[in-house]
Order: sequence, then C-alpha cells, then structure tokens
Amino acid sequence: MNRRRYVEELKKQSEIVWDIIVIGGGATGLGVAQDGASRGYKTLLLEQSDFAKATSSRSTKLVHGGVRYLAQGDLLLVMEALHERGLMLKNAPHLTFNLEFIIPVYTLWDAVMYTVGLKFYDLLAGRLSMGKSYFINRNKTLSRLPLLKPKGLKGGVVYHDGQFDDSRMAIALAQSCAEKGGTVLNYFKVTDLLKDANGKINGVRALNIASGEEFILKANLVINATGVFADEVARMDNPESKATIRPSQGVHIVLDKSFLKSDSAIMIPKTTDGRVLFAIPWYNEVVIGTTDTPLDTISLEPVALESEINFILQTAEGYFVKPPHREDILCVFAGLRPLAADPDNPASTKEVSRRHKITLSRSGLLTIIGGKWTTYRRMAEETIDRAIKEGFLKRAICITSDLKLTTLTTSNTSDRLHIYGDNSIEIKKMITENSGLGIPVDPRLPYTRAEILWICRNEMPLNVEDILARRTRSLFLNARASAEIAPEVADLMATEFGYDQKWKSEQIESYNRLVKNYI
Ligand SMILES: Cc1cc2nc3c(=O)[nH]c(=O)nc-3n(C[C@H](O)[C@H](O)[C@H](O)COP(=O)(O)OP(=O)(O)OC[C@H]3O[C@@H](n4cnc5c(N)ncnc54)[C@H](O)[C@@H]3O)c2cc1C
Repeated sequence: MNRRRYVEELKKQSEIVWDIIVIGGGATGLGVAQDGASRGYKTLLLEQSDFAKATSSRSTKLVHGGVRYLAQGDLLLVMEALHERGLMLKNAPHLTFNLEFIIPVYTLWDAVMYTVGLKFYDLLAGRLSMGKSYFINRNKTLSRLPLLKPKGLKGGVVYHDGQFDDSRMAIALAQSCAEKGGTVLNYFKVTDLLKDANGKINGVRALNIASGEEFILKANLVINATGVFADEVARMDNPESKATIRPSQGVHIVLDKSFLKSDSAIMIPKTTDGRVLFAIPWYNEVVIGTTDTPLDTISLEPVALESEINFILQTAEGYFVKPPHREDILCVFAGLRPLAADPDNPASTKEVSRRHKITLSRSGLLTIIGGKWTTYRRMAEETIDRAIKEGFLKRAICITSDLKLTTLTTSNTSDRLHIYGDNSIEIKKMITENSGLGIPVDPRLPYTRAEILWICRNEMPLNVEDILARRTRSLFLNARASAEIAPEVADLMATEFGYDQKWKSEQIESYNRLVKNYI
C-alpha cells in the first residue's frame, strides 16, 4: 500500500468512473472493498481517519459464533457466524488463534445447561469445529484457572472459540484489497454525495485530510459502510432522513497477565446485571470486558465512563482471588455498537439483531450496517451480491471464501513476528543487517524498531497514533508505556518521511492528549 502513489493516481485520473466507492474503512467497509476488488470491480475505499480507527479496533477480539445468541435461540445467526469463524481462521492463520474458554459454574443446573448448550455449539460448527466442549470438575477448573475464587465452585465447562488482532486484521484486509487492484485511502473524508439530473447518486465529494485538497470522485455505486456514523452519510443523501442509530458503548480494561495466570480465557455468562463478561489472555496481557451503555453522542474517540470501569473491576473482584484495582489498569478502551433508534421516539432503543442489515435508498445509496467482525466476509459478499441484483454491477462470482490474507510458509505461532505472515522474513532481514533494529523500543512492549520502520514503508501510517494504536497494539497493551515511546516513534517516522522538528513536537503533544482517554 502506498498512499502517496494512490493520491497521485487519483489526481491524474480525475475523470475515472469507479465501479464502487466504499465509504468507511472499518471491518465492514474493508471487507466490502476486498470483495469488490477481488471480483474485478474498480474499487475505491475512503476512510475519514485511519483504518479501524473506530469500533473495529476496539472489539473483544473474538472470532466467535456468539454463545450468547445461542442462549437467545438465534440458531441461524450462530451457525452463520460459526461458519465465518472457520473461514477467518483458515484465511488469516497469522492473525487468528484457537483459544480455550472456561465457564465457571456454581450450580449443578448451570453445569448441565452449559455443557449441553456448548455441545450444541460444537455441533452447529460442523466440520469447522475448533475443538470439543466438555465439563471439568472443580479441581481441574482451579488447576487451569488458579486465580478463580473457589467458594461455591462446582466445576467448569470448556469450549473453544477464535481470537484475533482486530486492527491488524483490518490492515490485512486493506492490503488484500490493494493486491487485488483496489485503492484504499485513509484520512480521506467523504463530505457530500453527488447526484445526476435524475437524483441518482453518481459519486462523492471527499477531502484529503492530510493535505486539505478536495476531490470530486465519480462512481456507479456508492456504499455506506460507516457503522455508527451511517446516519450522517444518510443525511448527505437525504437531509430529512431521521436518526436510525443510537450508540451503545462497550468498555474493556487491560491488565497484566498475572491477574489471570492462565492460557485459558474465562467467560462469565451472566454478571449481576445480566451481561456477558470475558477475561481473555491477549498477547502478554489480559483483556476484560465488556459493558453496554447507551449514549446520546457518537464520537471517533469514545471515552470510558467511571461507572463502566467500576463495574468491570467490581465484577472481577467477585471472581478473582487477586482482584485488580484502578492503578493496575494498563489501558481502558471504549467502542461503539449501533443500536436501532426508534425514528419516532429517539429516546427509546432496542438491540439491533446482531445480524447485519443491507438497505438501498431511492437515490441508490447502498448501506450495510450491524453484524460483527467475525461475519465481515459474509456481509461483504451479500452487499456486493445485492448491488449486482439491483443492476449496479455486472455479475462476477465472490472468491473471498478461499482468499488467503497472507502467505505463510512457516507457521511457528510462538514466533512473535508470525502476525506479519511471510512479511516477517523482510523484518528479520532488516534485523540481521542491523541488530540494533531488533531491540524492543520499550521493555514493557514487544515491538522493535525494525517493525516500526517496516510498517512505515508498507502500511500507510500517517502519524504516531496509527503506529502505536493500530499497526502495533502498544496503546491498547500499555497506554503509559506507549506514551513514553511516542518521541522515539515520532523520530523514526520523521527520519523515514523527512518530517521536521515541528511535526515531531505536534505529534508527541497530540499523542499525549489521546493517551489520557486510555488511562
Ligand atoms: C465493545 C464491542 C466489542 C465487540 N467485540 C466483538 C468481538 O469480539 N468479535 C466480533 O466479531 N465482533 C465484535 N464487535 C462487533 C464489531 O467490532 C463490529 O461489528 C465492527 O467492528 C463494525 O465495523 P464497521 O466497519 O461497521 O464500523 P466501524 O469500525 O465503526 O467503521 C466505520 C468507519 O467509517 C468511517 N467513516 C464514518 N464517516 C465517514 C466519512 N464521512 N467518510 C469516510 N469515512 C467515514 C469511520 O471513521 C470508521 O472508521 C464488538 C463491538 C463492540 C462495540
């Protein structure tokens, strides 16, 4: 991926009519763009900030069928997600992992209910099952989860689901789209939709946030894949359109792995207020969440509420012998899920089915909303199929079920650079040629100077935050440590791209401001 080249080409080919312009560079938009480009359509994706800046870098990091939806009886949704889980593990083996989960049970009824329920979960996964589920007694549960409070514990139910790195998956999708001939641009905000004499959408007006230049871009089809921001784009189409989305915030905290002391994750199916809570080992730390708090405002940078942090800490205290305290938190992050607002009564909300929804406006804006990270591929396939059915695109077959997101000649998952797929070979070569590049930038974080330079050259980061929050996960793994390495990352970027001292100072200042939301 090369942003400078893409922008130059956009200027040179100003008359070009794209087959598809996708607005939004989260899981949904990137999935749609990858599908479109891989079917041979001339595809352009525009993201107003960085890829996965919004919800798509703030998930629980699960590739899952959704045990919760099974309890709600939504079998079709679970089957569909389990199938997609299998495909995601097959096509992105460098970024997805098989993880063992244990549900601690405190009554015999729960033991029976969860064992039977999870057997059914396995069954629904069919040949894409990730491992059998089974009951383990109290002693075995405590040997696998040594920090779980033993009082009243009857045993545990073991099952398997997938885990992944959400923002690196987003970058992998962007790369895959680019490899198939698509153009993906971060920091390109769509500010208006263009229409022909018949009122049909035929392009977008977009602003290159990095340079302030405006672009008029023509397309046969414009797809709105902007998640919780979808109403804003709908209003560009029809200023009278009513609000359909109300955001609900989900918060996670990150702690040192010593608070879990296990390679298994814990799933608490019902907290005191009826939510599901996970404690999941992730890289070398543990992620605990999430909450579900309806909000009135939508933001690219949502901030956790005190009440949400306290809720997670109190719930953890109920289950762990070594309860975490406020000062133990390495990072707290918040993401927004779209709830369906009642257009006639904006104060009321109901949970949108976790299934996605595809709609077509009178002027031809195709909108895809909802779903989950796990089902991005299927959502994309259905969106492009719908566009074909509506006559926007010539028929072409979807190939993403078998489209690998990386080549992986060795699969040594214990090698930390495994997450780069075969690109790790280039990173290792850089370290062999200059051993200084192999030293981690900070002992609390795993990332080396070689990785940061490789990312600068290949993954289109524009600022320090892009590298620390989404190309590496420094911000999410240890927010304070990430702030301490911001000056060095700014230095490396400035040398690589030829930026001056002023740029570096502004970057460090703006990153320090951002980090306050995560500590
Ligand atoms: C707390 C939480 C935990 C979750 N955990 C999981 C999980 O473990 N597993 C799972 O499968 N799913 C999970 N999900 C669901 C999953 O994260 C979302 O379904 C998915 O990330 C949504 O992606 P999206 O692309 O639709 O939205 P977003 O990621 O929000 O992307 C929309 C993008 O559109 C861009 N945009 C908006 N307006 C414009 C414009 N005018 N011009 C250009 N770009 C624009 C935004 O900047 C943004 O980047 C979770 C969700 C939440 C909230």
